[in-house]
Amino acid sequence: MSDVGSAIEFDHVPCPFCGLLCDDLKVVRTRVTLKVARNGCSKAIAGFERVLPTASPQIGGRNVRLNEAVAEAASMIRKSSSPLYGGLATDVGGMRSVMSLADHSRGVVDHAFSESVGFNMKVLQSAGWIMSTLTETRNRADVVVIVGSDVHTLHPRFFERIVCAETSMFDKANKPRTVVFVGEGLDQSAATGPRVGDVITLPCALDRVDEVVSALLARMRGNPVAGDSVAGVPLLAIEDVGKKLNDADYSVLVWAPAGLQTHDSDLTIHAVSDVVRLLNKTTRAAGLSLGGDEGATTSTSVCGWQSGFPTRVSYATGAPDYDPLANAIPNRLASNEADLLVWIASYSPDLVPPDTGLPTIVLGPPGMNLPGSPAVFIPVGTPGIDHSGQLIRCDSVVSLPLRNLGRSNNPSVASVLSAIEAAL
Ligand code: SF4
Repeated sequence: MSDVGSAIEFDHVPCPFCGLLCDDLKVVRTRVTLKVARNGCSKAIAGFERVLPTASPQIGGRNVRLNEAVAEAASMIRKSSSPLYGGLATDVGGMRSVMSLADHSRGVVDHAFSESVGFNMKVLQSAGWIMSTLTETRNRADVVVIVGSDVHTLHPRFFERIVCAETSMFDKANKPRTVVFVGEGLDQSAATGPRVGDVITLPCALDRVDEVVSALLARMRGNPVAGDSVAGVPLLAIEDVGKKLNDADYSVLVWAPAGLQTHDSDLTIHAVSDVVRLLNKTTRAAGLSLGGDEGATTSTSVCGWQSGFPTRVSYATGAPDYDPLANAIPNRLASNEADLLVWIASYSPDLVPPDTGLPTIVLGPPGMNLPGSPAVFIPVGTPGIDHSGQLIRCDSVVSLPLRNLGRSNNPSVASVLSAIEAAL
């Protein structure tokens, strides 16, 4: 950090606006305004440079002091017999406070992106998998397969930092990598530069990617596939990708669960994991799941180590009870099995609570795009901008410390929820 006139420069800033958690940004603060000076993508610029309106805690749309809003929220939670804790877009400290409060109040915890995280969980729980990390992919992969999800749009610096990185740790020659896209219409513009060799596309409709992956798996197992094409992709092209994977020293098959458009995306991920498992009989290969935006990986990890399960856990009986269907907030709302919604969002003003007639407590960033006034609104800071914190990267192996860039004094989710719990 350095002072330049009235501006303060921050180097090596971690970015909390997607699950990659790039930690090489340069951000300049001038009073309460932030400017991304280096290494920001469009999502990072939108997040860091968003102009923050002033906001006050509110009860029913009326401005109040923070302690009054906390007392009202505590009163509502105390009277509730089945509170829902949703959104959960926060950091490690915030999620630990969510878990404690949910335990204390016998509530349900469900992240806004639990549905797509659940595609992965079904495979992990039913069959297991072999996974890579961002760092290992960057350093070792010689073939990278992007499976059915628009990785460059969802994670704009994935290619720059991982696939196209100029140097890698173990490969002195830094040989070009083969990049395969399974699915048509995926943004391939970043698959370029000296580290990228052949770029191959298997151009099927995105909702038929599962058919192509299944055909790839069948041919690699030596099983017959009827016809000479699958989902419009010539079988010979699919077999050629299978040969490249067999010949590779370390291939990585990449997907973003939220970006998959197949009907049963867990089955697509299952087939990808089976390809990886098969390859490991003769060479090395791994999967790599991206995602983790809005603190989704953090929420899943903290819920995992606190309760033993991913999100969609209920404490109604006093012990953690995992049920990915019954504890999904949309299902709870549809079946009227709740009497209070507590919604937590500290990154994007657009992560708003679902439309519900339930009384709602919202902890959100100032300027949140709420359709009306919730029962209680408490403005909170964004981790990595307004206060320090920790987030867990999309590959679940690294927890990065986030910086306080001093944009505002809005409190952290952790401090607000701890105050609410203390007042119960
Ligand atoms: S790719 Fe993701 S983590 Fe990296 S700068 Fe962009 S939004 Fe931030």
